[in-house]
Amino acid sequence: MSDTKHKIIIAVDGFSSCGKSTFAKAIAARLGYIFIDTGAMYRAVTLYALEHDAIRSGIVDEEDVVKLLDRISITFRFNPERGASDIYVNGDRVEGKIRTIEVSNCVSRVSAIPEVRRKLVAMQQEIGRRRGVVMDGRDIGTVVFPDAELKLFMTADPAVRACRRYKELTAKGMTVTMEEIERNIRERDKADMSRAISPLRQADDAIVLDNSHMTVDEQMAWFMEQFKIHNS
Ligand code: C5P
Repeated sequence: MSDTKHKIIIAVDGFSSCGKSTFAKAIAARLGYIFIDTGAMYRAVTLYALEHDAIRSGIVDEEDVVKLLDRISITFRFNPERGASDIYVNGDRVEGKIRTIEVSNCVSRVSAIPEVRRKLVAMQQEIGRRRGVVMDGRDIGTVVFPDAELKLFMTADPAVRACRRYKELTAKGMTVTMEEIERNIRERDKADMSRAISPLRQADDAIVLDNSHMTVDEQMAWFMEQFKIHNS
C-alpha cells in the first residue's frame, strides 16, 4: 500500500498459538512491510542449545546456553514460496526444525535468560530502524518498541488455540496429541507471563483483538479499520 503517509512500526503481541504470525504476515504483505517473527528467533537459539548439549534431558543449563550465544548468528532471508522470511542459524535454514514440540517445550526457559533476551532484543531493534516493520512476539509493544505507532494484543479461547496448533503441526506430518499441545500452550503462557524479565503483558496503549471466532479475512478488515484510524 503505497499511500501510507509514512512507514510505521506495528507491534503484535499476545498469547501462544493465537495466530499472531499468520496475522502479522498478512498485514505485512498488505502494507508492503517486513514481517519479523521474534518467536522464531527464541526458537532458533533453543534449537541450537538442544543440538549443542546445553539442554540435556529437557533441563536447560543456563550457563551453557549463554556460552553458546556468541557462536549463534541469526539471519532472515525472504522465501517467495512462503511469502515470508525464513530463519537461518549460521547459514543453515532451520525454519522447519524450530517448530517441533521438543523446541516448544524448552523455549520459554531459554527465553527467560537475560543474556538471550539482550542479544535478540538488540537485533530486533536494529531491524526496526528501517521502519515499515510488523513484528510479532510477547514484548514488542512493551520493551522492544515501546514507542511503536500501532500496538495490537492478540488473544483467543485456549481450546480454539490448541485446536489450531494441532491442525498446523499434524498438517506438517508431526505426531502430537491434543493433550501435549494443550499442556504446552498452558505452560508457555504461564512461564511467559510470570518471568522476571520482559513478561508477556498487554501494553497500556495496545488494541485488543480476540480472534477466537474470526477468519483471517475478518481480522484483516478489522486491522485496516485500525490502520485507517491511526493514519487519519
Ligand atoms: O511466538 P512463538 O510461540 O513461536 O514463541 C515461542 C516462545 O518464544 C514463546 O513461548 C516465548 O517464550 C518466547 N518469546 C519471547 N519473546 C518474544 C517472542 C517469543 O519470550 N518476543
